[in-house]
Amino acid sequence: MERIHATAAFIFVPGKLTIAHIASTFLPADIYTKLQKAMGKDCILVSATDVHGIWIKRELARTNADYTELIQSFHQKYQEEFKKLNIHFDHYGITNDPWLETTVKSSLSNLHKKGLIKRKNSVTYICQGCNEHLPKRFRLKGDKLKSTGKVDIYNDEDLEQVCSFCQSKDITTTNHKNWFIDLNAGMDQIRSDIEKLKSPQVRNVLLSVLKNELSDWDITRRNYTGFAFPDEMNEEDDLFVYLWYESLIGYLLLANNEPQIKNKFVHFLGKNIVYYHGVIWPYILRQALDDYTTEFDISARGFLDLKKTDERLLGIDSVIDLLGVDYTRFYVAFKVNDNIQDFQFSLPEATDIINNILINRVGAFFNRCRKIIYNSEVATFENVAIDAEIIALVSRKIEEVERSLNNNAINEALNKIIELVRESNNHISTQKYYQVSDEVSMAQVGYLLSVSIVLIRCYVPNIVEDYNIFLNRYSTVHCVLNADRKFSNSVVEQNESIWQKLF
Ligand SMILES: [Zn+2]
Repeated sequence: MERIHATAAFIFVPGKLTIAHIASTFLPADIYTKLQKAMGKDCILVSATDVHGIWIKRELARTNADYTELIQSFHQKYQEEFKKLNIHFDHYGITNDPWLETTVKSSLSNLHKKGLIKRKNSVTYICQGCNEHLPKRFRLKGDKLKSTGKVDIYNDEDLEQVCSFCQSKDITTTNHKNWFIDLNAGMDQIRSDIEKLKSPQVRNVLLSVLKNELSDWDITRRNYTGFAFPDEMNEEDDLFVYLWYESLIGYLLLANNEPQIKNKFVHFLGKNIVYYHGVIWPYILRQALDDYTTEFDISARGFLDLKKTDERLLGIDSVIDLLGVDYTRFYVAFKVNDNIQDFQFSLPEATDIINNILINRVGAFFNRCRKIIYNSEVATFENVAIDAEIIALVSRKIEEVERSLNNNAINEALNKIIELVRESNNHISTQKYYQVSDEVSMAQVGYLLSVSIVLIRCYVPNIVEDYNIFLNRYSTVHCVLNADRKFSNSVVEQNESIWQKLF
């Protein structure tokens, strides 16, 4: 048996959660998990609050806050914001976990014993303005950043140096002995893992990185908030583990490890961290943890263009105030493609998409079915055979949705579901079930309605769950397809007012 762990890349304290994170990472992961569950798959959604690194160290210095109180307040806040957007995690953790610390240290010792980690001289950049140690991404000029606020990490060698924290250009270098991981030793395994990735775009980005020899990866940090290096590698007691090393192991912490279950990870993330998940993750998994059975895939998306996006759509509370939870979810899922192209949001566009697609197509179809069943005076229809043509139509569409899911493509899956709605609507018009208001006709309409509802509610759970159709009886599409087709329209009547308000 296989269990899919959909992972959403961790948010770092004191980062502010915005619609950009939701759109690139958390919402696609949530919808993917809900759809997989609807298809009857064993799939769970996991993520965590990352409480290590340079930013939290700075936040602690700035606010004089207590570490535990600070991380708990952010940890709490993030979870409340996810909940507001109906993003449900099966396991949401925090990275200052004792299991994680033990595992990180033993994995480093393992690499040390194998001779895959070595100590060598390296140059550390230190800002004389604020005394921070500055890795590459923290010493680039602001105007070299893209409008998404990110640096193009593949082409930043020749840029002028400036401290990202205090804007000082007074950056000096010191020689330190740091620990480096020899990534080339795992090259064959890394390549074979990358070749299995479903997204051609992500695969190509990563394979082009592998064309050159990989540089050794410095996982040493000083003046840092994080796990200390293992004692045997930390003579002066001043070394900490770079957070990317431990974050990646953190995904395993969140897995429901049961020996009889084969784990598969599907990582949902923004395009800037594809390298960590596509090159470093397989290295750590195979070489440091000796895990050669866990499979993984990467579902990466582009960034939200902050300059071209309406400010009111950025904050979690302001977007919910403006559009409501389900309309926000629908707009984002409909708008953001399953690839690493950047995107932008606008209010007029959101209104158009919500009105034209969700309300006038999907909602109008549901409303039409409701009216047909309501006007028929058929109270229940049980044990009625569904037409072979309908079964064929639905099976074909469900297969297409499953194919999209296998490619982690939730935007494509949404388009398939909207096509199912359109084809179901056309089928009802052709067959004119509304002219023969008997049990058999109503069962056909009810069946088509139920399948669309089970699928679309992964995107807009509140609208559908407020409407309260089939919630208990039809928990998965396969139930609808294979099990009993009992259906009562009594729930339709009782929620009529909610329905009219929404559609
Ligand atoms: Zn500085």
